[in-house]
Amino acid sequence: MSREKSEAIIYKLIRYADSSAIGLAFSKEFGRIKLFIPKAFTKKGGVVCFVHGNLDFAKKSSDLSKFYSFNNYTDFYHYLNNHEILIRLHLVFEILDGLIEPELSDPTLFELILKYDDENFRRLTPYLMYFILKKAGVMYDLTSCVSCGSKDDLFTVTDQGLYCSTCSDQLSQTGYCDKESAYIIKCMGNSSLYRNIAVTRKQEIQIIKALAGYSSVVMEKKLKSLKTVLEII
Ligand SMILES: [Zn+2]
Repeated sequence: MSREKSEAIIYKLIRYADSSAIGLAFSKEFGRIKLFIPKAFTKKGGVVCFVHGNLDFAKKSSDLSKFYSFNNYTDFYHYLNNHEILIRLHLVFEILDGLIEPELSDPTLFELILKYDDENFRRLTPYLMYFILKKAGVMYDLTSCVSCGSKDDLFTVTDQGLYCSTCSDQLSQTGYCDKESAYIIKCMGNSSLYRNIAVTRKQEIQIIKALAGYSSVVMEKKLKSLKTVLEII
């Protein structure tokens, strides 16, 4: 057993017995970890989800780590005060939980999740979904048709990937996105280009549907948080 400290976000608490919980956390240095948290639901020892903080824990040989404490960084309370961010984090972490291997450190992904502010959530959420799919090694090619390999007219975004206009006509594929939204997805391969793109509500919804649809196929299960996200955003 080794005692560790790491920046982390606790993203899910599953009630266990009285006031204890199994906590799922994403830490900067140790990746995704599972913790046994006594008194997780009490006022005094209570733990808050979706806040950046410092996690003190001990790694054990089993997959359940021992929890000592979690100290919130108060400058990240805006995550809790903005339901636009909070609702999107549910979706992002559901995909992260399903696709990122446990105990695989990814400081870049961790830092990216901390980049949310009151203005950028429409742009950042689809990018985080893409980034997680990419990190998991399952993202489709953004530069060629999934059916024929053509590099031209790639605007039909489906659960299988991008189709060119010829293939989407021949195979009667309908996509999630209009041309603008498809273009935004294609820009994700180039982070400096993507950084300057404005994403409207309509585009965000189309892109989230497209990437969530694809994530579901890869994860072989429905995303529980998707319906709520689409109802609220
Ligand atoms: Zn094609």
